[in-house]
Amino acid sequence: MSQPTLQEALKSLSIDNENAGTWMGVNAHYSDKKIPSYSPVDGSLIGYASFTTDEQYEKSIIEAHKSFLEWRNVPAPKRGEAVRVFGNKLRDQKSALGLLVSYEMGKSYQEGLGEVQEMIDICDFAVGLSRQLTGLTIKSERPEHFMMEQYHPMGVIGIISAFNFPVAVWAWNATLAWVCGNSCVWKGSEKTPLCSIACQKIWNEVTLEMNLPKNLSIILTGDKNIGVKMSQDKRIPVVSATGSTLMGKAVGEKVASRLGRSILELGGNNAIIITESADLKMTVTAAVFGAIGTAGQRCTSTRRLIIHESIYDKVCNSICDAYEQIKIGSPLNTKNHMGPLIDSDAVNNYLQSLKDVEKQGGKFLLKGYQLKGESYSSNCYVTPSIAEVENIWNVVQHETFAPLLYVMKYSDLKEALNTQNNVPQGLSSAIMTNSMQEANMFLSASGSDCGIANVNIGTSGAEIGCAFGSEKETGGGRESGSDAWKAYMRRVTATVNYGSELPLAQGVEFDES
Ligand code: NAD
Repeated sequence: MSQPTLQEALKSLSIDNENAGTWMGVNAHYSDKKIPSYSPVDGSLIGYASFTTDEQYEKSIIEAHKSFLEWRNVPAPKRGEAVRVFGNKLRDQKSALGLLVSYEMGKSYQEGLGEVQEMIDICDFAVGLSRQLTGLTIKSERPEHFMMEQYHPMGVIGIISAFNFPVAVWAWNATLAWVCGNSCVWKGSEKTPLCSIACQKIWNEVTLEMNLPKNLSIILTGDKNIGVKMSQDKRIPVVSATGSTLMGKAVGEKVASRLGRSILELGGNNAIIITESADLKMTVTAAVFGAIGTAGQRCTSTRRLIIHESIYDKVCNSICDAYEQIKIGSPLNTKNHMGPLIDSDAVNNYLQSLKDVEKQGGKFLLKGYQLKGESYSSNCYVTPSIAEVENIWNVVQHETFAPLLYVMKYSDLKEALNTQNNVPQGLSSAIMTNSMQEANMFLSASGSDCGIANVNIGTSGAEIGCAFGSEKETGGGRESGSDAWKAYMRRVTATVNYGSELPLAQGVEFDES
């Protein structure tokens, strides 16, 4: 797939310099307050979006609810048909949207394409799902009765998403929510507003061509205050929030206080256990891609390597050698392996973590720094770091959203598993081993406590077919494949009496005489 220029991509996606903040269906609503979108790639201004006002917010929720009332009565396979058409439009726009993702967020063009592919994949999944929204039938204890479970849509689904997956996470939520019969309001990250607008415009084409209810998708643009409003809003029965643990705790608390449902997808602190029998070549590739891919800004990025003491020096040397080969620069140039961090705050957080590592007594095998000069015009480029640390240190227990990799030794697998699990977060984990016993111990109930447990694969990158997410401070939510769709539906237990008597459950007698 040939790489378009930025201008070609923006034209194909109908993104101008000025863009609306709120899109109710096909109608754009502007406001006076603007959000500029600067590219971390070269620091240039891509365009403006405008903040959603309070008045626009109110109208949006009302309109989204009206569309839900219509949509819930459309047969599910027909709803799936709309998602199929959306998926085909994404196929047509894959290179343009992939380029915008890369330019606005800073991940490589290949990863931008991968993110759009993930959207296409979840569309395909949702289309199939639209014919498989099944419920159980259960035998009744009463004669001439039967019982079944039915799933019905919840209403307006609120989606709050992070900057690092500016399009795919929305699609994971929205496509499933739509086939289940809901409408969606989406607050994307204020750091990537144009990606949200591009997605809405593609969906708008489906709305017009298929004459769908106008407001099945609405985007709300702005800072965290819109997310706070959504969390408090009783008209939004489900809030799906992806981002930091700090954000998730705030959203979770507010949604719970009104007895709403939240789906929380939060931070990770992902480790690879590297055993004596690990294949060194596969291990180095998995660790390096996991740690520096997307400049360490994936929720599944590899943060910690727990290495058997007998191969510790060999593994560390091989990984340091691989790091020496890493080319850092524009993510639009396919020769580069690592692009920029999202903004200067992210750079400062990274540099602060390096200081904290030093303060706690860590030893750097490679110490990162900020890259300056003409080729790094955005001030967002850094070099990656590798540090020897102890797992219990404060800095290690926190997620630094940057290319900072920790290494530590172990002598016994149980000890390695304890170390791996001894962090507040869950999410992703991996073991590199050729021992069946070790692999199965890692996957057992007393093994990895993460929602994602990989054998001979790194921690980052997941397919849409399975449910994604984890417990502990990762939030407990599940999105994407498997039965994650149930989170967007309410369950009804229906009992039908086809006889002419009225027997009570548990044999209770009710004598009217
Ligand atoms: P962030 O928490 O700063 O922001 C995420 C979103 O939440 C943004 O849209 C933001 O405006 C909104 N927000 C912030 N505070 C809020 C509040 N109090 N109430 C409501 N909304 C609020 O995260 P980020 O910097 O954009 O993304 C990086 C983080 O996201 C990392 O911690 C990463 O691990 C996590 N992440 C997790 C997953 C996952 O699936 N588990 C996926 C992607 C990113």
